[in-house]
Amino acid sequence: MAEQLKKTDVVLIGLGAAGGIVAYVLTQAGLNVVGLEAGGRLTGRDEQLNELAESTNYNIFGRPKFNLETPTWRPNASTPTIVSTMVPGANPMMNGVGGSSIHYGTMSFRLNPWNFKMRSETIKRYGASAIPAGSTVADWPLTYEELEPYYDKTEYEIGVSGKAGNISGKLDPSGNIFEGARSREYPLPPLRKTGYTELLAESARRLGWHPFPLPSTAHSQPFKGTPACTYCSFCHNGCFINAKGSTDIHAIPAAEATRKLSVVTQARVTRIDTDNNGRVTGVVYLKDGKEFFQPASVVLLATYTYENTRLLLLSTSKAYPKGLSNNHGQVGKNFMVNSTVQASSGLFPGRKLNRASALSGQGTMVDDWADDNFDHSGLGFIGGAVFGGGMGATPIAMSGTTPPGVPNWGSAWKAWLKANANSVGDCATRSFEALPYEDYYLDLDPTKRDPLGFPVIRITYDFKDNEYRLNRFITEKISMWLKEAGATQTWTSPGTPTVRALANHAFGGARMGTDPEASVVDRWCFSHEAPNLGVIGASTFPTAGARNPTLTIQAMAWRTADHLVKNWKSIAV
Ligand SMILES: Cc1cc2nc3c(=O)[nH]c(=O)nc-3n(C[C@H](O)[C@H](O)[C@H](O)COP(=O)(O)OP(=O)(O)OC[C@H]3O[C@@H](n4cnc5c(N)ncnc54)[C@H](O)[C@@H]3O)c2cc1C
Repeated sequence: MAEQLKKTDVVLIGLGAAGGIVAYVLTQAGLNVVGLEAGGRLTGRDEQLNELAESTNYNIFGRPKFNLETPTWRPNASTPTIVSTMVPGANPMMNGVGGSSIHYGTMSFRLNPWNFKMRSETIKRYGASAIPAGSTVADWPLTYEELEPYYDKTEYEIGVSGKAGNISGKLDPSGNIFEGARSREYPLPPLRKTGYTELLAESARRLGWHPFPLPSTAHSQPFKGTPACTYCSFCHNGCFINAKGSTDIHAIPAAEATRKLSVVTQARVTRIDTDNNGRVTGVVYLKDGKEFFQPASVVLLATYTYENTRLLLLSTSKAYPKGLSNNHGQVGKNFMVNSTVQASSGLFPGRKLNRASALSGQGTMVDDWADDNFDHSGLGFIGGAVFGGGMGATPIAMSGTTPPGVPNWGSAWKAWLKANANSVGDCATRSFEALPYEDYYLDLDPTKRDPLGFPVIRITYDFKDNEYRLNRFITEKISMWLKEAGATQTWTSPGTPTVRALANHAFGGARMGTDPEASVVDRWCFSHEAPNLGVIGASTFPTAGARNPTLTIQAMAWRTADHLVKNWKSIAV
């Protein structure tokens, strides 16, 4: 029997990149929040300047939950489940206060205005037949302009280093001229340039493209009492001096300072309860082997795409026999990923690029081949990719970046590395936009269970012609760029991109929209069916966008929290 706790205003499940922002906004407004986090607290001392630690230490104490419930994958409903989508340790999500913002790569993009209207703008320019068959791609129920104030607040809260390309409609070519109008400059200047980022910028300009410095939450200057980035290049291990915009550094401590946020660590939520009227009443969680029930007026679910869907599907009740908020059968649908194209590398013989001397957040990007910034007529795909190259090469990763024909072990391999490893440049940051399709979805795996006995998520998803064509197109552009920069040889990683390796930019499963027959949550991310339940994170996104998602996740989280504060009386029970 679960121990009954005192009722709170809001129970927030998951204190990651999104949950941290929600906690900050709600507590500043005076609401009492209980934050239930499955992981513990990490500090700078846990965050080592060690490439091996990324895949060893964090697996042991940073990702215990995620590693035990890795989703399974199959490419379509008629193929048996093949493998886990992620090899534990490859690139999994973090469990801890701060979530995956602790070890994320710091790339901090806004979506462009077109991303919010992808379906209607595509039809307007190319006709209805341009939408790939079976794709459920949809417009967002809000515009860029509506989200802009929340992007702005978030950038100033977490600290983003960058250069604006469009302030109130005035374009500046030293930033991204394709971006939507922003109300002011970034809070921090861009991270410093390097020989390689400049080489890429100059060659992009020669190609007629529009390079800009990668926006990053690695702080280029001291920020809110924490020091500036030391350019150590180990952002993926967390920041040992707190020079990063992860929510455990500023947002969550600021929320705790209000004394309105009570953080419960190692608290694993197993279900969300409802009353007979279909309103949520609170959540059940396990801590130290004991079960607790935390009642709340409002429940906000912020456990990342897979767990958001899983908790909804596991929370069956009289009011929701197929899972919470799933009476219209929409939970798990419209899943998609934000993929990477095949990694492209280039050899710049005799040139010391010193890419190991800095961080991956330091890069030169182009937006010319993203969204609808170019004419897609006859190309056979929609959307595109933001891509670019930069620093942050680490020794083990570098040693795996050899061209075809060079052995990947033994003395010939070592000799090649000695002569060339410091002369290999790549375009390592390349997110392309994959689409959702009607035959792809998330559901509960019928056989694989986690150690507590709960089914894990099963992903049914693969790329279709649209994604393969887009991948080829972008890979060619990257190769063209590297050659223009002086690479004598370019090559791509073997194999084709698949959904298996890509699960840390995952979207959908609780789509937002105005039609309850086709979406799970409304335009504010509150459930169509259980009005005091909010779903936070990329699981609500109707499209993936062609760039890393976290800033948008956080801006959307801020907007939902703000809506809750302003409409507390009508939403809370
Ligand atoms: C290696 C890596 C690099 C990345 N780099 C970038 C980047 O450069 N730029 C970018 O934009 N994005 C990047 N991402 C993606 C980014 O980390 C995510 O978009 C972001 O963290 C999602 O925020 P979230 O709050 O939804 O999930 P998370 O930040 O993962 O937080 C979810 C939290 O919920 C907790 N939780 C889960 N289940 C439960 C439960 N049942 N009960 C209680 N708590 C629970 C988890 O422990 C976790 O702390 C990267 C991701 C990875 C893994």
